[in-house]
Amino acid sequence: MNYGDWALLQDRRGRVYLFRLQQGGTFNYHRGSIRHEAIIQAGVGRFVATPQGERFSIHRPTLEDYVLQMPREATPTYPKDAATICFLLDLAPGMRVLEAGSGSGGLTLYLARAVGPTGQVWSYESRPRHLERARRNLSEFEDWGNVTFVQGDLAQAELPPNSFDGIALDLMEPWKALNNIAPALKTDRFLVCYLPNLTQVITLLEQIKTLQLPFLHERTLEVQHREWDVRPPIAHPKFQQVGHTAFLVQLRRVGGG
Ligand code: SAM
Repeated sequence: MNYGDWALLQDRRGRVYLFRLQQGGTFNYHRGSIRHEAIIQAGVGRFVATPQGERFSIHRPTLEDYVLQMPREATPTYPKDAATICFLLDLAPGMRVLEAGSGSGGLTLYLARAVGPTGQVWSYESRPRHLERARRNLSEFEDWGNVTFVQGDLAQAELPPNSFDGIALDLMEPWKALNNIAPALKTDRFLVCYLPNLTQVITLLEQIKTLQLPFLHERTLEVQHREWDVRPPIAHPKFQQVGHTAFLVQLRRVGGG
């Protein structure tokens, strides 16, 4: 660990604190502070304490830690859902994936990691401020040089035909872009829509039927993680859980050209 790196401190109650290590920097806690220098000297996987005896374990933040804590303009796709989107898109290193909107860049980070340095992510965002936030969040955490951000409305974008191995949409009204993006998705590959409301899922499927768009509805699912508090003899589901985030709709591109 060095100056400029992200550090994550975890207290004994499991609360986490994410920050960048700075020369002369200090981590301030309500029961004392710790110099960044002391954190670097201790190193990851080890412990530091304030003069008042508050102990913290030291970690490099995971992608999940970062997405949950990073600055945001729009609500990022929740990590459990972002990971599942990569799985539903059947992504692998070297693939090319299209995304909208970039928002805060949460899903972008997951897609970029899934396709790796030999792959490509094209990320569309209509709002300049959101695009700038996504760009910064990506570059400040993990930039493989494989993301192209484009400012604009995906429904109006000029996309090369038959060129993407997957498409992920986290938009309020994804159906407005379907006509435009369908030819860009390779046949037999997947489009996944992230939709908080079931009414949106129904509208999406109705629009596909009405407009006779070349997509098969493979499945609609929710990702539920039920965390447990296990500290024997205590062992029960945590009283506070992440509730509903969104529905994931997996669609498969069918038909030719
Ligand atoms: N998945 C993002 C993340 O993980 O940070 C969050 C996306 S946010 C919920 C939705 C974004 O879509 C907003 O930033 C909005 O400006 C953008 N948006 C909405 N309609 C759009 C369109 N037609 N084309 C491009 N971006 C659009």
